[in-house]
Amino acid sequence: MADTPSLPSHAGAVVIGGGVMGCSTLYHLAKLGVRDAVLLERNKLTSGTTWHSAAQVRALRSSRNLTRLIQYSIGLYAELEQETGQATGWINKGSLSIATNPDRLVHIRRQEALAHSFGVPAEFISAGQAGELWPLMRLDDVLGAVWSPVDGRVNPSDLCAALAKGARARGARTFEDTPVTGIQVKGGKVVGVETAGGTIRCDAVALCTGLWSRAGAAMAGVSAPVWPCEHFYLLTKPVAGAEHHLPTLSDHDGHLYIRDESQGLLVGCFEPRGKPLDPAGLGEDFAFQLLPEDWEHFEPMMLNALHRLPVLETAEVRMLLNGPESFTSDGSFLLGESAETRGFFLGCGMNSVGVATGGGAGMALAHCMVEGHTPYDLHEADPKRFHPAESGVEALAARAPEVLGKHYEIAYPGRQMTSARGLRDTPLHARWAAEKARFGQVYAWERPLYFGAGPEAKGTFGRPAWFEQVGREVMQAHEAAAVFDLSTFGKILVEGPDAEAFLDRVCANDMTRAPGRAIYSAMLNQRGGFESDLTVLRLDEQRYRLSVGSSAVGRDLAWLRRQLRDGERVTFSDETEALAVLALMGPAAPELARSLGADALDDLGYFRHAPAEVAGVPVHAVRLSYVGEAGWELTCRAEDAERLYDALASAGARPAGLYAQTAMRIEKRFLSMGHDLDGDVSPIEAGLAFAVRWESDFIGRDALEARRQAGPKLRMATIVLDDPEAVPLGHEPVYLDGAVIGQTTSAAFGYRIGRPVALGYLEAEAAREGQAVTVDIARTLFPARVTMKPAYDPSGARMRPVNSTERV
Ligand SMILES: Cc1cc2nc3c(=O)[nH]c(=O)nc-3n(C[C@H](O)[C@H](O)[C@H](O)COP(=O)(O)OP(=O)(O)OC[C@H]3O[C@@H](n4cnc5c(N)ncnc54)[C@H](O)[C@@H]3O)c2cc1C
Repeated sequence: MADTPSLPSHAGAVVIGGGVMGCSTLYHLAKLGVRDAVLLERNKLTSGTTWHSAAQVRALRSSRNLTRLIQYSIGLYAELEQETGQATGWINKGSLSIATNPDRLVHIRRQEALAHSFGVPAEFISAGQAGELWPLMRLDDVLGAVWSPVDGRVNPSDLCAALAKGARARGARTFEDTPVTGIQVKGGKVVGVETAGGTIRCDAVALCTGLWSRAGAAMAGVSAPVWPCEHFYLLTKPVAGAEHHLPTLSDHDGHLYIRDESQGLLVGCFEPRGKPLDPAGLGEDFAFQLLPEDWEHFEPMMLNALHRLPVLETAEVRMLLNGPESFTSDGSFLLGESAETRGFFLGCGMNSVGVATGGGAGMALAHCMVEGHTPYDLHEADPKRFHPAESGVEALAARAPEVLGKHYEIAYPGRQMTSARGLRDTPLHARWAAEKARFGQVYAWERPLYFGAGPEAKGTFGRPAWFEQVGREVMQAHEAAAVFDLSTFGKILVEGPDAEAFLDRVCANDMTRAPGRAIYSAMLNQRGGFESDLTVLRLDEQRYRLSVGSSAVGRDLAWLRRQLRDGERVTFSDETEALAVLALMGPAAPELARSLGADALDDLGYFRHAPAEVAGVPVHAVRLSYVGEAGWELTCRAEDAERLYDALASAGARPAGLYAQTAMRIEKRFLSMGHDLDGDVSPIEAGLAFAVRWESDFIGRDALEARRQAGPKLRMATIVLDDPEAVPLGHEPVYLDGAVIGQTTSAAFGYRIGRPVALGYLEAEAAREGQAVTVDIARTLFPARVTMKPAYDPSGARMRPVNSTERV
């Protein structure tokens, strides 16, 4: 029962949308003590997508913290009835993922390994054992399965009823039939929510409007790349063998998920390409409604289902349910504060795991609204990770059906989306295309992964088709001179009379160094964890240029702006598109530069920068290296980039792509934000305390000091595998004496050392020089050795000019 419709004039927080995300967020806001929180639902609770969800809850996700959210959901769904008296329909029957081809077998065994390192019970079982758990399943093509006993399912409407009841019991209020028609924003901050029944003043809004979220976000000036697709499941009348609850069965190769439902079967699908849907076409009054059956679209999956479950031949079909569900451009949901508007939080775009994730995601969103940050790092869900170009209607309508299709595809390393490409080209795009670049997409940019690409090869978990080519690019940088295009890195100009004081507070390193110095630094959160890691060039007394990760610029700009104090005279500009950056790296770089009239570069010390000219092109050069070879990063105006590159190429430099750069940075133990660094990790665990100036009063200092005093539980280690044929990809568990002692964060083949090499966090006692460990790649344990230094050129001699002792 909802409240009587008399809206308050003020609320501590307003949640928009009464699906599982909205109900869970409201419940957790109330639990965190926000007693006057309200939820506004335009129709009835659950009436959007939630009511018809298949509502399976499977714990394992691609990262530890996304998995933690679902582990939290499982605990909550099991306990909520006891607290509220309202059942959630939680049924814990486990889940089963089968493999019917060798690559899928590797895929599910990798997932099993991942589950072990996240503490999720998972066990590989034979086809025969899988058949005992699912007697209706055809087995003759099944190679094996992974059994996950903790998984289950819930009744989505009952779950929301329990969450809403729990929230109301703590003083929160829900209003049905109350559409939000506008968001009031003043000075970049939310100040109110408009409805036909009046305006509610508030400074925190959670947008949980499911597939309507792109339009909802636009009301607050926020771009949200959310778009719906049709999503199908078949329901049968009762069939023999489904009288009792069964585990959820996933036949990913057949694009199917299957479970019992009311003594019949529920057969759902993630078909290779979904059907997009324009949310505007659904209408305001789309409530408890479904979309038309589409048997033609479902037919290939129906054939797969008939193959897997012969009993379907004779089963009577109840309906082919077709409901809308929202997807985002990269397949992960949106959770957190928007980049554009303070106090406007997103909790949407659930990519068909909204019920499984909803409990934990609502908890994390409420935490974020109350505490200012999520309870643990959730960068995969940070709404600031997208460039606005990704939220265009055309791009989304093309991308959403591909994302739906990728849901059950084998996650081969390096797989790329094929839709919504070409949104942002670097100034050298035409040159890279002429060099037959294979492009990858990041933050809407097209970035060369490697060059000389032939027709796209089939994915593999073994050595990829580009293995030799990337090796050639690495050797070009190692033995001669290569050019890496770093133009996609975010470039933020921070200027003003207070720029030095501001940056010295926001960055952990010493920002008071003289102009001409390059400075590597962390930006930390109040908990001492990484908000960003960046290279800073002090251009003059009042101007600094910050170089940040390609997809970090929106997030970092928002963070910087939010740290600004009243009256502080500092401005920020995003220079990313105006400037191109080419890294000229390799032992032949000095001679090559001299041949182009850039003799002055020779005199530039390590971590020093200065203006220069290369072949008559004005550049700003900095001597440092992300790949561990001698050279400079050359920044020029975007319109000069082709002229600069052509000169470098004519003098003998060859292009090298992102894969070569990544392999080289891992060999050199250069850590990367989003892979090896995140909001939970501090410079202490990462081994980057050398770039902390303890004497200054930077953000996160006290927490960092406490971490230093306590000593790290985990430490970043370099892990060199013995077997040159092993192919670690990152996220593999690391074992010592039969127990998991850590996990890799990045991995690649180290071409300069001739071995696969990984970076990863290990328990501090095991993170020591020479420690023998094993790395679990799809449940095969590969012997490896730990070093606490870079695997290649530990002294760094190759990238510094002779006799350099510069600090970073
Ligand atoms: C067929 C199908 C099967 C699925 N199976 C599973 C599964 O097995 N496991 C799983 O985890 N997930 C599954 N999902 C996905 C899951 O159901 C969704 O991710 C989840 O329900 C989304 O919840 P939500 O709260 O984000 O959105 P919704 O439930 O759509 O809620 C959004 C609400 O916002 C309201 N609203 C919109 N605009 C406004 C406005 N301006 N003012 C006020 N209110 C507004 C809407 O009326 C709606 O009630 C499935 C989805 C489908 C379609």
